[in-house]
Amino acid sequence: MFMYINPKMVKFPVKSDKKMKKYMVIGDPVGHSRSPGMQNAAFERAGLGRPYGIRHVVPDELPEFFEYARKNLAGVNLTVPHKQQAVLLADELTCRAERCGSVNTLLISDGRILGDSTDGIGLEEALKYCFDEELTGKRIVFCGAGGAARATAVHLAGCGCREISFINRTLNKAQELADLCRKYYPDLISCCTVPGDEKSVAELLERADFLVQATSVGLKPDDPPALAEKFFHPGMNLRIFDTIYHPTGLQKIAGKFNIPCANGKEMLIRQGAASFELWTGIKPDLEAMRAGFEEEITGRC
Ligand code: NAP
Repeated sequence: MFMYINPKMVKFPVKSDKKMKKYMVIGDPVGHSRSPGMQNAAFERAGLGRPYGIRHVVPDELPEFFEYARKNLAGVNLTVPHKQQAVLLADELTCRAERCGSVNTLLISDGRILGDSTDGIGLEEALKYCFDEELTGKRIVFCGAGGAARATAVHLAGCGCREISFINRTLNKAQELADLCRKYYPDLISCCTVPGDEKSVAELLERADFLVQATSVGLKPDDPPALAEKFFHPGMNLRIFDTIYHPTGLQKIAGKFNIPCANGKEMLIRQGAASFELWTGIKPDLEAMRAGFEEEITGRC
């Protein structure tokens, strides 16, 4: 069966897609993911139905899942713990995925799998949107040097930031990440320290424009703040972006001292929006995605 997509633009018959294109998020665990709600809201607003599901995939099953995806899916989002292993399984990588060594998005076309990383653009756009500021010349401190920091720090280094430093429990992971950023951006200033080195932490936070909280401390309701209250005070020249999208101890400190603070919701929406655009070529409706983020968790497959 053939159809004409846009008679003005397309002068030849185009084969119609017999099957509706399908997408999903995978992870271990994945049941908490907000991606189905926000992606289906974007697809629906674009008149493309609700084609986005969710699947629990453990690390050993990832190669088999790639073969399934190659034949049956048009796009995938990957969350913890698959972002690094996916780098090895994709047929091709975008430059940004290759640089940070992380894949959170698959684009599948004619059985070929392209791996991309949209976390960096997600954080960049969230910082600009939440604080209404450009990043050029800014000093950023990451608290954490795990997968989320890795997937985003090199991208921010490419946004013209003057300094990107890392506070992390394991110092050598922070140093590896700082080295990776400087490999691509040799002029970048980058210092590394541990939360226990109070003098260095205080100095970094006093001169920073943004603190990006990218540890998993705060995911559990009774977790302490990712950085102690003594490092913060009213009147700091600091904005705090906490990648966790529910209330945390750090967000509470920010409130107490009137320090501008945003949670990770906008970052999740923006990385998802970049995935959506890669799959469809359409800029999604961000308001629809924000509303979808709040939806009940549905759409398992
Ligand atoms: P990960 O790779 O497991 O890294 C965890 C990080 O947290 C490491 O830096 C680790 O330090 C640190 N950490 C863990 N437990 C700690 C403790 N008890 N004390 C001090 N530091 C501790 O995890 P990830 O994938 O990077 O995720 C990190 C955070 O980012 C999570 O909270 C996740 O929800 C968030 N995230 C948000 C988005 C979004 O779109 N909003 C996207 C991705 C991730 P060591 O290096 O010393 O182990």
